[in-house]
Amino acid sequence: MSEFDYDLFVIGGGSGGVRAARVAAGEAGAKVALAEEDRYGGTCVIRGCVPKKLMVFASEYRDMPTAARAYGWDIPDGTFSWDAFRAKLNAELDRLEGVYRKLLAGSGVETFDARATVKDAHTVVLSTGEEKTAKHILVATGGRPVRPDMPNAHLGMVSDDIFHLEKLPQRVLIIGGGYIACEFAGILHGLGCEVTQFYRGAQILRGFDEEARGLIADAMKDRGIDLHTGTTIVEMHCVGTPEADAMGEAPVENAQYGLKTDKADANGPVRVKATNGTIRDFDAVFFATGRRPNTDGLGLEALGIELGRNGAVEVDEYSQTKVPSIYAIGDVTDRVNLTPVAIREGMAFVNTVFHGNPTPVDHDLIPSAVFTQPELGTVGLTEEEAAEQEEIEVYATSFRPMQTAFADGSGRVMMKLIVSKANRTVLGCHIVAPGAGEMIQLAGIAVKMGATKEDFDRTVAVHPTMSEEIVTMRNPTRTV
Ligand code: FAD
Repeated sequence: MSEFDYDLFVIGGGSGGVRAARVAAGEAGAKVALAEEDRYGGTCVIRGCVPKKLMVFASEYRDMPTAARAYGWDIPDGTFSWDAFRAKLNAELDRLEGVYRKLLAGSGVETFDARATVKDAHTVVLSTGEEKTAKHILVATGGRPVRPDMPNAHLGMVSDDIFHLEKLPQRVLIIGGGYIACEFAGILHGLGCEVTQFYRGAQILRGFDEEARGLIADAMKDRGIDLHTGTTIVEMHCVGTPEADAMGEAPVENAQYGLKTDKADANGPVRVKATNGTIRDFDAVFFATGRRPNTDGLGLEALGIELGRNGAVEVDEYSQTKVPSIYAIGDVTDRVNLTPVAIREGMAFVNTVFHGNPTPVDHDLIPSAVFTQPELGTVGLTEEEAAEQEEIEVYATSFRPMQTAFADGSGRVMMKLIVSKANRTVLGCHIVAPGAGEMIQLAGIAVKMGATKEDFDRTVAVHPTMSEEIVTMRNPTRTV
């Protein structure tokens, strides 16, 4: 008989926690419990990847009638019903949450619908008042969106709120330039909102390949997203309050952006003054300005576990904290905040702790996608990062794809390979194109295997496709 209630207690029923709990119980035969304070599935399933991608799909139907007409179809433009979509979306999320609960139960994991905190190296306390002991504790509490530190920030919403909107705002201001900000700019624009986006930096999508960032920013503007870089909010107030009245109105500015200009009509809930001097009214402001690991009040610091920048749990390469029985995985460690990474970290944890096979997590060459229009698929080093490291050849091409060109569309795509001059290895691959997320998953295998430019070259093209360009770029565009 073990001296503990469980072999493993997992805190958090999101991507990483659920996978670790299932595998530890199902494959390793451990006695496992898991506490979730909100909905099973966590950020990815309930308020992240899944609902977002379904909204991307919904938003992309807007352009289909136009494109179809160019191909001879007689299809009128349609209208979008947020009510109809939201009802289906909610039903789907309920279904998925049920699947997650069933998977845990089917693996023999005992679940608690409660918040858990850590009392000592082997004890968790539940919000029900119960205390449970475990040989190992796995912290998989994820992260949450944060508003900027400015007066009236509560007037803005964050990504969690988008999925609960009763109705779509007509005029929405998005603050931020990261992938979540840009994806929602495309989504909300596609669903019929007038989208303005402010980002304080010089270019959106910081950290991604410079050329790809530029192409996506241009495409977003071309589609009608009113994107302003080098711009942020100075102040914001509810329309109708003395503070908002004191800000004055800027009918000229409003007219410039095609918004309603007379006072009676300017009844959007929030008036915003920007660093570029404009004063404009918006029905909603959406802060996509960053996320913070969920460690507040968890009790970790009292045990000597260090919290790093932003409150992230500090762990070693095996996801182990300073307290040997306590591990942490996923967004709460703020390493690479993506669902498949949290899952990998969960599997590596189980291998290390329950299969006696110490498994460090490999965070190198992780492919990822940004679901803008067009999408960005990326793996490996950007041109800028690679050039700092060694001499490189850049192979890049940008063109109008066949499907778009036939319909007289202006959208361009880009394929780009970053190649080491010394050993010909492909150090990075960046694709801006419809379906780039699907393409980069496959290109990622080659890059992860250490493929050289010549390996790409000897692969026969699939014709006619956009991605064939990735194996037909003969001459370097530049050497850096
Ligand atoms: P989470 O999934 O956040 O799960 C943590 C769980 O712990 C939550 O359910 C929470 O309620 C629970 N919890 C927290 N504290 C406690 C406590 N004290 N007691 C009990 N339970 C607790 N990733 C991708 O790979 N692709 C994408 O396209 C993508 N899109 C995204 C879009 C958005 C809008 C957002 C916000 C994120 C997106 N992500 C995407 C990131 C992805 O969702 C996360 O990386 C992933 O969910 C992290 O998993 P996790 O297990 O670490 O945490």
